[in-house]
Amino acid sequence: MAGEFDFINWIRAQSLKSDNLLVPPGDDLAVVKWKFDDLLLVGVDQVLDGVHFDSSIHTPRQIGKKVMNRNLSDCAAMACLPAYALATVALPRGRNIDYAKELYLGLREAGDAFDCPVIGGDTGSWDGKLVVTVTILGRSAGVKPITRAGAKVGDGIYVSGPLGGSILGRHLIFEPRVVLAREISARVSAMIDLSDGLSRDLLHICRESGVGAIIYADAIPVHEDAMALSQQDQRPPILHALHDGEDYELLYTASPTDNLPGTRIGTINAASEGILLQSEWHREPLDPLGWEHPL
Ligand SMILES: [Mg+2]
Repeated sequence: MAGEFDFINWIRAQSLKSDNLLVPPGDDLAVVKWKFDDLLLVGVDQVLDGVHFDSSIHTPRQIGKKVMNRNLSDCAAMACLPAYALATVALPRGRNIDYAKELYLGLREAGDAFDCPVIGGDTGSWDGKLVVTVTILGRSAGVKPITRAGAKVGDGIYVSGPLGGSILGRHLIFEPRVVLAREISARVSAMIDLSDGLSRDLLHICRESGVGAIIYADAIPVHEDAMALSQQDQRPPILHALHDGEDYELLYTASPTDNLPGTRIGTINAASEGILLQSEWHREPLDPLGWEHPL
């Protein structure tokens, strides 16, 4: 694209300080010294204009931050430490280099908070909308990766924070729960980050672990944004807490004797019991609602 050399030079000038980055962005590949004697965890996440953000409303800085934070949240879900990130940007024709720089600075800002530099990427222009992908490299750093598959019958089910109504703005400015994940990692049996909504993400844990679950409606911490949204759409706040996406809190299971940080919202049951929601007066199946992205 026009100005590509300028852009690469500009990125090089952003002084990526890492003793382990032997060849920085600007060559065919970056070269890092993987000095760690541990496991490498790798993931990639893509965000699309009109689905995960709206470029007519959100700034490129915000968009870049969000993409990076989604990847960092996946690191939290596995209890690994973020190490390096790579990004690609499909830039709509007409967006200039300054726009790409702002995207980069958003990525960078979010990554810096976890010592996770952007060590490579690719940018191109096309006739479509803005698409940004980030590939994240994480390391286990002494912690066995936590998967979705370890929940056991009798485990408590916990969430790290209040849920619902993230469309009101939190979906752009959340903080990935990397620090908490590392803190609780020795005690949790399964974990996931809440990107698709509690009802859907709980289903992932139950399927992968081969278990059922009961959730106590009264125990779910409902975010004040869910209350505010309820005023607008008349949908009960609890439904927002159960089904809205993009909370980016952690959902985890652990032996209930452990005094874990977070809020206990339920118990793991045998698979044959299904996934149930216990309300004041009755129990009903907790069906994951088709998650429609807020935008
Ligand atoms: Mg995830």
